[in-house]
Amino acid sequence: MCGIVGIVGNQPVSERLVDALKRLEYRGYDSAGVATIHDGVLERRRAEGKLVNLETKLRGEPLAGKTGIAHTRWATHGAPTENNAHPHFTDGVAVVHNGIIENFSELKDELSAGGASFKTQTDTEVVAQLLAKLIRDGMSQRDAMQAMLRRVTGAYALAVIFQDAPDTIMAARSGPPLAVGFGKGEMFLGSDAIRAVALYQ
Ligand code: GLU
Repeated sequence: MCGIVGIVGNQPVSERLVDALKRLEYRGYDSAGVATIHDGVLERRRAEGKLVNLETKLRGEPLAGKTGIAHTRWATHGAPTENNAHPHFTDGVAVVHNGIIENFSELKDELSAGGASFKTQTDTEVVAQLLAKLIRDGMSQRDAMQAMLRRVTGAYALAVIFQDAPDTIMAARSGPPLAVGFGKGEMFLGSDAIRAVALYQ
């Protein structure tokens, strides 16, 4: 179970998100990624291995955007590859997740039968696919989040951003910690309840 950070900010967030992830490095991880929303478009960078690899990628291809989420992964379902690294994207929805979605296999079968095409081997992708489906079916993002949470079982902390909601991170937890921090005109999310306070200072 690894690290989640998020910022709804008033200045660019990608570097700050990676700095915040560094404070969670003590937990161990095998890959990392960051996603932001910029001008109505979700973008991400992901890398296997240490955060320095993600930083190198970001130097070559910087990520703009004032709202974003980031993750260090400790793989439980699917190999520790860049493709399986979080955030996972489906139709304008981006998800990072700590923990395990226990009923992912049943949900994956159901979503696949409805036409979803899975791009990763992770349990996490069912969350992104299910949210995207519920929104396509006409639900608001908030209702979709609540409906998704009624379907998933297991121990999880989740942070979600939506391409067309540039000032919002939705988050949920059942088991693993997730703390919300308030800054000056900004809000923060961190999966380490104690360090979250210091994460963004
Ligand atoms: N179960 C998820 C995965 O394998 C999340 C693992 C974690 O907590 O980092 O991608």
